[in-house]
Amino acid sequence: MVLPIYNAFHPVLKQKTSDVENFDESIIQLVNDMYETMDFAEGIGLAANQVGRSISIVTVNDIYDEDDRLLHPKKAYINPVITSFSDEMDDFNEGCLSVPELRETVTRPKKIQVRYIDINGNERSESIDGLLARVLQHEIDHLNGILFFERISPIRRTLIQNKLKKIKKGLIVPNYPMVLPTGKLIGELTET
Ligand code: ZN
Repeated sequence: MVLPIYNAFHPVLKQKTSDVENFDESIIQLVNDMYETMDFAEGIGLAANQVGRSISIVTVNDIYDEDDRLLHPKKAYINPVITSFSDEMDDFNEGCLSVPELRETVTRPKKIQVRYIDINGNERSESIDGLLARVLQHEIDHLNGILFFERISPIRRTLIQNKLKKIKKGLIVPNYPMVLPTGKLIGELTET
């Protein structure tokens, strides 16, 4: 089922999520719904609080290399924690399904070590770089109530104030369903 995406200014996105304690059927269902939602909204990653659930789950969509070979099939990271960051940094032009039509360059560490639980309930720790490291840092920020535009320079942030206000009010309508801070639903509501 495609779930509506919560607008960046909805309180659920400023709240730190809780860890998943019980691996039951509802978690599998939520992960599958998050996969469907990512595909529908054409997102590369999604945090559970972006679909209104304040729990620590991140999904990442299929990632391909330059030759269009599948590098990382879509995957769920449950209770993910970044345990180390590289000193080497990288710039990337990020976007976010909760912030329609805004793209900003964000500087982040190039490589990370991530500890998480996989969909089968196994605890894992992986060293990750490239686009996957970028996406995971953005999504794990969501679980901690941090939005990507909070990581840009104060000058850039001032320059985008008006656009952020429009997004908050729902004046920029995405082509997927979105819940505004008021609870109102906007956007494309039917699956194609
Ligand atoms: Zn995001």
